[in-house]
Amino acid sequence: MNRRDFFRFTGFGASAALLSRLADAATGQLGFVPTNTGIKGRVVVIGGGMAGATVAKYLRLWGGSGVTVTLVERDAAYTSNILSNLVLNGQRTLTSLQFGYSTLASRYGIKVVRGEAKAIDHVGHKVLLADGTSLPYDRLVVAPGIEFNVIPGLETAAAQAKVPHAWKAGAQTTTLKNQIAAMPSGGTFVMTIPAKPYRCPPGPYERACVVADWLKRYRPGSKVIVLDANSGILAEPENFSHAFDVIHQGVIDYHPGVTINSINASTMTLNTSMGALRANVINAIPSQRAGSILTASGLANAPGQWADVNVLTYQSTVAPGVHIIGDSSATTQPKAGHIANQEAKICADAIVRLLAGLSPDPAPVTNSACYSPITSQTASWLSSRFAYDPATAKMALVAGGLVEAPSISKDNYEEMFKWFNTLMEDSFA
Ligand SMILES: Cc1cc2nc3c(=O)[nH]c(=O)nc-3n(C[C@H](O)[C@H](O)[C@H](O)COP(=O)(O)OP(=O)(O)OC[C@H]3O[C@@H](n4cnc5c(N)ncnc54)[C@H](O)[C@@H]3O)c2cc1C
Repeated sequence: MNRRDFFRFTGFGASAALLSRLADAATGQLGFVPTNTGIKGRVVVIGGGMAGATVAKYLRLWGGSGVTVTLVERDAAYTSNILSNLVLNGQRTLTSLQFGYSTLASRYGIKVVRGEAKAIDHVGHKVLLADGTSLPYDRLVVAPGIEFNVIPGLETAAAQAKVPHAWKAGAQTTTLKNQIAAMPSGGTFVMTIPAKPYRCPPGPYERACVVADWLKRYRPGSKVIVLDANSGILAEPENFSHAFDVIHQGVIDYHPGVTINSINASTMTLNTSMGALRANVINAIPSQRAGSILTASGLANAPGQWADVNVLTYQSTVAPGVHIIGDSSATTQPKAGHIANQEAKICADAIVRLLAGLSPDPAPVTNSACYSPITSQTASWLSSRFAYDPATAKMALVAGGLVEAPSISKDNYEEMFKWFNTLMEDSFA
């Protein structure tokens, strides 16, 4: 990426003083917080995932030492969802997908607070933590990811443990991996996909492929039945159709437009619009909504309980001074880690400008890439580019901006790890 692309990519086009500091970024020296830009402000960030970690880092990089950043995160380390499907086939461990917060603290001077944000007082401009601490702010960024809606029949913790979604990498990922390993040859794995929007559009199709590939080799005769609430494959349709119909032919049965009425975890039966189905393993991905701190604070004001934002600043449409980024925000962009990283940069840029008394960039652009393993050695990819459309005040897909890999290949599989390492370094290091 050259210097010009870098500015376009980050959506940054601020004052000459700010641009001169970015020159260091353009030469690759990103780990540099200017001592004093003259800009001052207290920013609190809730959630240290893909969006929250990135916004905290870039607020310091671009705002300088006068912009204090406090990052509130409930977990000691972040576990990446990206690549977590490869935990299911034993190619990655959960530990290898964990990222701590010490570099954000030591390199950028971010104050990392381990805790649970319980309430947002957007009138009094403070965040209340579960331990009673109150954190005052000038600007608040909320990046809590998603919460899950409950599928009828799976109300209890025991039922949810037996029918895991594994759509938040962690203990459920290990449960699902163990359940797949315990399947008999000739067994049935049923996976359900919720109606859009949900986190990571290609993710479920990718998971079906990874599981089918493993079962084919280690549990011959097994089936992967995919029940999709959507009317067709939502992402990389060419490559996933080829994967389902040719590469994993006879293993994956894909059914679009299926409604899940309920799931009985005791009998391992799904009651669906295409009848009752029994399975050895059920991987039911529920529909989702904004993180609970947002619903509890009245900020999940868009349909489906997502948070409506102005995409020039990611400011909430109901709470001035509160910015919402990542999966929780309701935008036209996919709910994806790469997009969360991009939204974080647009938001950091906007906050720095607002603190400096400037206007936000009127023409932000974002992009997203996503690699999808198809077998243990091959992958596909998808990329998309968005630009702000003043007519609709939304991010619009640019003409020709949605591209899927011309074929499924080994090269894509190898590039996937380079893309992942770069993205995670940009967010956490
Ligand atoms: C199987 C799978 C595969 C995926 N693959 C890809 C991929 O290939 N490419 C891609 O771009 N995306 C992928 N994604 C999607 C990606 O993981 C998400 O879009 C991304 O993580 C969203 O970032 P976020 O910051 O909004 O949320 P998260 O990354 O989930 O971070 C939210 C953070 O907030 C914390 N938090 C929440 N509430 C509170 C609170 N009240 N107090 C304190 N802390 C709190 C959480 O602990 C968490 O650390 C995948 C997802 C899955 C499930």
